[in-house]
Amino acid sequence: MSKKFNLLSCVWELTLSCNLNCIHCGSTAGKKRDNELNLDESFNLCEDLKKTGCRSVALMGGEPLIHKNFWSIAEKIRELNMNLCIITNGTVYDDTTFKKLKSLSPEAVATSLDGASEETHDKIRGVNGSFKKTTNFINRALKEGLPVSVITTVSKLNISELNGLKDFIKGKKIAWQIQTAGAEGERFPAAYLLDENEFYSVGLFIEMLRNNYDISDMPVIGAHDMGYNSCVIKHTALYEKWPGCQAGMSVVGIRSNGDVLGCLSLNNEKFIEGNLRNRSLYDIWNDENSFSYNRTDLKKPGKSCSGCKYFSDCGGGCMEMSFMKTGELHNDPYCFYRIEKKLFNPIKRYFLSFRSSFSGHSRERLEFLNKFFGGTRK
Ligand code: SF4
Ligand code: SF4
Repeated sequence: MSKKFNLLSCVWELTLSCNLNCIHCGSTAGKKRDNELNLDESFNLCEDLKKTGCRSVALMGGEPLIHKNFWSIAEKIRELNMNLCIITNGTVYDDTTFKKLKSLSPEAVATSLDGASEETHDKIRGVNGSFKKTTNFINRALKEGLPVSVITTVSKLNISELNGLKDFIKGKKIAWQIQTAGAEGERFPAAYLLDENEFYSVGLFIEMLRNNYDISDMPVIGAHDMGYNSCVIKHTALYEKWPGCQAGMSVVGIRSNGDVLGCLSLNNEKFIEGNLRNRSLYDIWNDENSFSYNRTDLKKPGKSCSGCKYFSDCGGGCMEMSFMKTGELHNDPYCFYRIEKKLFNPIKRYFLSFRSSFSGHSRERLEFLNKFFGGTRK
């Protein structure tokens, strides 16, 4: 009998239409897709999600708040007793929006903020005035008692503003999710991608925040494009141990035209498992042939993960990072463990060359390095 997979959460792109023009947008949002789901089809999807066992639905876009059926669909999700998250750019609202959001009792209202300064945020978001609107949205949502999160997408354009963003966020009881920009979208020049060292330094920044600030004051997490199995950066995520990419395992992504993918970040036609106009989500999710890259295929490590002692549990990191960077799955080259091996091997060699003159402290460090590398001499 084939294994059953429990669907925990769904990320649903309500529309690809967007009022902003963000440089890093992975789906190059702007115009709506041809043939986006109508209200009846959207209600059917809500029922289908419930039937499939889904517990939590995140509505995103494009910009979900400009979609004419946003409120009806959000209410339907709540009527069906599924948790609701809203991922918005925080620029589309009026005086009634916050009370209406409150009445939905959302689990999170996640708002994108990409710069500590107006200049940087507006440059990244492609529309002047968006910083003012978004920070005003955040402040008004907080005043209304909504559970506000901030999502920051880091690239070369804003890495130097992380500290300023921290100052804006801290003490407001905002949950802060930090993620890194990918190059899937058509507007994002690869030159703005973080290099390996910058990527690692973002991990260190998150670790520093989690060590220095009380979680009730400033809960901060790295998205799951960041990790894994680091001996230094232990706390980027909420889970103790990286469980492997959950695309098609416990999460699913729905495009506004009804395409079903394991994760919307895997923004390539080859990862479409089916379309809701031809098959129900329930059927697609429970089909033993679906999401084979994570569920059933024998996972072969790519070059980046070859020989890694964690591969059987890790599966090669984030599939989106892996595919975006290398064109292959199970091959995430920006893994912290891998980066640390490169960083620490020279230090280990240095210690080994002075082994005989070690102080107790140095010996401890060598033991630590040996433990990390599994005792291998390289
Ligand atoms: S090298 Fe690959 S398998 Fe090993 S921890 Fe990193 S991502 Fe996972
Ligand atoms: S592809 Fe990456 S972002 Fe998507 S579910 Fe897998 S780990 Fe998460």
